Amino acid sequence: MTPAIRPLIAGNWKMHGTSSSLPELKAVASGFTNAAGEGAEGVVCVPATLLGRAGEILAASPVAAGGQDCHPAPNGAHTGDIAAEMLADCGARYVIVGHSERRTDHHESDADVASKAEAAWRAGLIAIICVGETKAQREAGDTLSVLSGQIAGSVPAGATAGNTVIAYEPVWAIGTGLTPTPEDVAKAHAHLRAELKKKLGDEANAMRILYGGSVKPSNAAELLSLLNVDGALIGGASLVAADFLAIASAVKSK
Ligand code: PEP
Repeated sequence: MTPAIRPLIAGNWKMHGTSSSLPELKAVASGFTNAAGEGAEGVVCVPATLLGRAGEILAASPVAAGGQDCHPAPNGAHTGDIAAEMLADCGARYVIVGHSERRTDHHESDADVASKAEAAWRAGLIAIICVGETKAQREAGDTLSVLSGQIAGSVPAGATAGNTVIAYEPVWAIGTGLTPTPEDVAKAHAHLRAELKKKLGDEANAMRILYGGSVKPSNAAELLSLLNVDGALIGGASLVAADFLAIASAVKSK
């Protein structure tokens, strides 16, 4: 963790969950402070179909509701897309942009991601901007240069510690059970902080940088103990309240 930064434990339910999953969200809402302590924040980014109900369930809790993507425009002829304003209207406070599954499945470029982050701010949402290298890029020794390029291209100049969270998610670690070594995570996060500082100046000192990619109760304490790791973005393990809360509890001991 970085001293003086309030940690964020973020869940990404991806395309999982129907009404029958809502009790998990209720359990997260009621158990979060006990697990993570008063000093931490939580967010669960649910599918758009659950967002309205998630917003109501989480309204009076320390856990926010979030979306998983937004369109750059506030409205228009974009069948199937969702505007950031619509997410906010359903009770979202955060939205993930540039997740690697969006970058791959929907061919989203850094410029697309930057436009989506600006759309999130326009709607009053906090953008969680995802970056991370593929397996091939890592094996070619390009991890840090890929991260530099993604920060340069995906993070708009107006980013502040209040409107933006960065999530470092090595693509090869997402959903695979694999994680980089703690040394590699620490190196990547220090590099991201330095790149953010180049771009945003001192504002970068307070910006949260989350680690994501196969975070589980068994590895959370080690990952969250690292300098410049200010929380986690959790996919699979966020679907089960007990696992999400066990991960959140790793920040309490810090
Ligand atoms: C993610 O989807 O952002 C993620 C990190 O997934 P997982 O935790 O399942 O690797």
